[in-house]
Amino acid sequence: MSLVVQKYGGSSVADAEGIKRVAKRIVDAKKNGHQVVVVVSAMGDTTDELIDLAEQVSPMPAGREFDMLLTAGERIAMALLAMAIKNLGHEAQSFTGSQAGVITDSVHNKARIIDVTPGRIRTALDEGNIAIVAGFQGVSADSKDITTLGRGGSDTTAVALAAALDAEVCEIYTDVDGVFTADPRVVKKAKKIDWISSEDMLELAASGSKVLLHRCVEYARRYNIPIHVRSSFSGLPGTWVSNEKPEPQGDQQVEHAIIAGVAHDVSTAQVTIRGVHDKPQVTARLFRALADAQLNVDMVDVKASPVWPDQADISFLIPRSEVHQALRAVEGVRPGIGYSWLGYNTEIAKLSLVGMGVRTTPGIAATFVEALSAEGVDVHLVASSGINIEAVVPEHQVDTAVRAVHTFFGLDRSAGEAKVYAGTGR
Ligand code: ADP
Ligand code: ASP
Ligand code: MG
Repeated sequence: MSLVVQKYGGSSVADAEGIKRVAKRIVDAKKNGHQVVVVVSAMGDTTDELIDLAEQVSPMPAGREFDMLLTAGERIAMALLAMAIKNLGHEAQSFTGSQAGVITDSVHNKARIIDVTPGRIRTALDEGNIAIVAGFQGVSADSKDITTLGRGGSDTTAVALAAALDAEVCEIYTDVDGVFTADPRVVKKAKKIDWISSEDMLELAASGSKVLLHRCVEYARRYNIPIHVRSSFSGLPGTWVSNEKPEPQGDQQVEHAIIAGVAHDVSTAQVTIRGVHDKPQVTARLFRALADAQLNVDMVDVKASPVWPDQADISFLIPRSEVHQALRAVEGVRPGIGYSWLGYNTEIAKLSLVGMGVRTTPGIAATFVEALSAEGVDVHLVASSGINIEAVVPEHQVDTAVRAVHTFFGLDRSAGEAKVYAGTGR
């Protein structure tokens, strides 16, 4: 009997009706002869609401108690979903991440899965149950504390379980019909992609296309798990993400697009440090301090100070939620690196064009910058590496910028509009 893992995101289980609708889909998969493991996210915007609540109690909540709080969202959804399935006359059991054997490191709020031991899930399946697992959470191997995997982490739970259980496919159900050439909430003319390579998807996800989390794609690529992203609201086939191009069906060839799509990220901020001693060991000390604080920096820009000789201005991007940690880490090494000014800007966004054509086709950078200038977008920084070219732009101009690049690279659909079934885009 084949085993499928299905993951339902928050917008698919936003209310009691949503939970009952999803329960029917799950039961249908069981009736079609599959063993079914379901990973579920917290209902609707529950996680955001829990974060808002925590911030009212403590200005910078983080760590153990914050994770304990956030995992409650998924526990509510898993229990309700199991109840709804039982109400349809089928057996279901729900499990927390810890009970499902999702073992992580001890980094609270963004733990990494280091092992999956799904013994209880196997037993539940063998006894004829549908197994429901709370996404986005695990347990630390060292401290035995409950951890969370970072925002959107239920995608990673699903792929990790699919790998550990040797599933045939990992289906990610969401509020759009699949992966599009841009966020369909922003670009109505975006096209649904039938198949995308893991490499292109990894880059889109890392650049902000939150339809899949980049860690989940990384995991799927490593364990060679095919992902099928599709809507829980329509019965339509979605987007396949896999390492290998699918075999042609009849005379229908699947093309590997030169440009996969445009991604944008409004959850980023730019930190700038002026007047740093312009020596490699100084820059190294700065980035070591950020790394020791578990912070990932992006789009690093080092240039000679326009004001002082032998000094440099350094800027980098960091998730907005980590700006204060970054500032603390930089202030901590001030005696060693001797800067004159430290500041940050949260009113920026990053926009990326992704595809193998970025590496292989001449003139991509020219068209990219022409698209932005045609719409009067104020470009702060442009960088390109591998299959990605990206720009930092003012946040209020990012939607215009995404649409312009999408049009200039010929990605617009010729008719109709991309459909968004639910969700708030939060
Ligand atoms: P879920 O609650 O199911 O996890 P998410 O909100 O995390 O859903 O992800 C789905 C959303 O991702 C869509 O509603 C869409 O706004 C956004 N998105 C961003 N980029 C893309 C893209 N390239 N293709 C499809 N959706 C995208
Ligand atoms: N509920 C968590 C979040 O909103 C995890 C997820 O949805 O994947 O980030
Ligand atoms: Mg998600």
